[in-house]
Amino acid sequence: MTQTITVIHGDGIGPEIMDATLHVLDAMKLDLEYEFADAGMVAMEKTGELLPAATMDSIRKNRIALKSPLTTPVGGGFSSINVELRKRFDLYANVRPAKSFPNTLTRFPADVDVITVRENTEGAYSAEGQETAADGQSAISITRTTRKGSERIVRYAFDLARAAGRKKVTVVHKANILKSTSGLFLKTAREVAALYPDIECEEMIVDNACMQLVMRPEQFDVLVTTNLFGDIISDLCAGLIGGLGLIPGANIGADAAIFEAVHGTAPDIAGQGKANPCALLLGAAQMLDHLGKPADATRLREAIVATLEAKDSLTGDLGGTGTTMGFAKAIASRV
Ligand code: NAD
Repeated sequence: MTQTITVIHGDGIGPEIMDATLHVLDAMKLDLEYEFADAGMVAMEKTGELLPAATMDSIRKNRIALKSPLTTPVGGGFSSINVELRKRFDLYANVRPAKSFPNTLTRFPADVDVITVRENTEGAYSAEGQETAADGQSAISITRTTRKGSERIVRYAFDLARAAGRKKVTVVHKANILKSTSGLFLKTAREVAALYPDIECEEMIVDNACMQLVMRPEQFDVLVTTNLFGDIISDLCAGLIGGLGLIPGANIGADAAIFEAVHGTAPDIAGQGKANPCALLLGAAQMLDHLGKPADATRLREAIVATLEAKDSLTGDLGGTGTTMGFAKAIASRV
């Protein structure tokens, strides 16, 4: 059956990596139909809105979107479009796998294989109650953690661990200092972990987790944490495996899912054909898994690995001189 997906080209390097990704998906001859929708600065210029109603309707209808990064203008009362999308569709689980690949510029040996499961809708990152005093001398924001939000994300992490044959879930927190918010997250996580006796559960304070990730990344399997910590830790994990061009992110909710690269619009290299398309391609692989096409997801990941192994048309961030589309064509030739 043909599956229609909403495709958002995005800003900055977005259009380049999306065209490259669609080129590879087309070469795979999947039964996918694309419904193109705008968001971000492109949408702003066309419609005066960062997130037009037509785009929301398209995602609501198709329930699956593949999205390039979006620019959110700084200041001016705009809330982040990504945060808005996650909230509006209640995309509570953000799944960011960081796995070592051959021939990257990482400083680490090839034994990193960590999945960060980040709560995606609440906590400090949700930017609730942002207020700056009239005299500009102080500012506050609200960090709200709920039992429901904590329970469903920890359950998601343990279910994922079980389904993927993983052995351990590390709960990353700061409950020693943030006794109410992080405390509730940890307390709930302990209750959920007790329901999964087959999976080892470990607790780690976030600052120590960052140090341990750099010193001995191989000790980690699945991490589950709150929104802001997950945002930072997953970029740290990207650094472990050779950069932001290699790490995808799935935003999963009960009624919709949006797949993307973890990185942003990379304005410093936009329009130059220098961007690595792998992060979005790996996001597309997550999407294929989610659509119940694991064999196609594996085919895509293996083509990426084979292209890296052959050092064929690699982009600059991987030490090559290839272009975004040249790299995509090299991958497409191996699917
Ligand atoms: P960034 O991720 O865009 O760039 C950080 C660095 O990584 C830059 O040097 C960039 O050139 C490099 N980089 C990123 N992706 C790459 C790729 N595919 N190939 C090669 N190099 C790559 O982060 P930033 O500069 O902090 O943010 C720029 C903009 O992106 C901001 O407007 C921010 O709001 C937005 N952003 C959007 C998303 C999203 O839509 N999901 C995520 C993060 C940031």
